[in-house]
Amino acid sequence: MRWQQAAHKIISECMALARLPLEPKPGFRVLSYHSVGGNALGDHLGLSSISPKLFKKHISSLSEYKIVGTNDADLNHNQLSVGITFDDGYRDNLYIAAPILVANNMPFTIFIATDLVANGANGFLSTHELKELSKLPNVTIGAHGKTHTHLTRLKESQILIELQDSKSYLEDLLGESIQSMSYPYGDVDERVLYAAKVAGYKNAFTSNFSINNSQTEALKLNRCAILNGDTTRTLTQKINGDWDWRGILGA
Ligand SMILES: [Zn+2]
Repeated sequence: MRWQQAAHKIISECMALARLPLEPKPGFRVLSYHSVGGNALGDHLGLSSISPKLFKKHISSLSEYKIVGTNDADLNHNQLSVGITFDDGYRDNLYIAAPILVANNMPFTIFIATDLVANGANGFLSTHELKELSKLPNVTIGAHGKTHTHLTRLKESQILIELQDSKSYLEDLLGESIQSMSYPYGDVDERVLYAAKVAGYKNAFTSNFSINNSQTEALKLNRCAILNGDTTRTLTQKINGDWDWRGILGA
């Protein structure tokens, strides 16, 4: 464990111990993971790649919650449910994370930055592996843009290409309708929201650290980043809403 991860674990655990447990907030709480046991994109601190051992512990502790697929969530439901998502499309999602989730009968969603797959980028799913992943029980494949870029920095026409091309690439490859996406870097503004609507997405996920309920827009759903070093205590607190103050920091 690198010092940054060790430091995060210590800080995270101290903050977890210092927090008063709240009653879980009702709504759809969506967790966002990246790599499990590999190297995540631009992850200089090593926080976005969770160790397989810790991931297993997280999944065991999630068994006490109602886990719902991201296309099946009812935002008007007045009880807590949890969604599990992964961004980017890492190979380890198929070989390490998926077997654990399938064995526990938990639905999960993987958002794919399609050029990383199409170009055979190192550490990412190949087209063959992505097809294999898409056939597993309870898996949902969504898009994560084409080139994994900050969408708000692009012209309207380029934003639309990013969102439409990634959707049609996945639909052609997998032979299924792609209804959801997550915004790379959680980067979204009114122009990006409009493009997501035009491209035909039914739901789309940001990185805003909060829960989803009947007040949440379907193309601006919130998610909570889960990091390496987050103990099961921290995970439970993030699910229960004890960490939603992070939302005001624009995490
Ligand atoms: Zn990403």
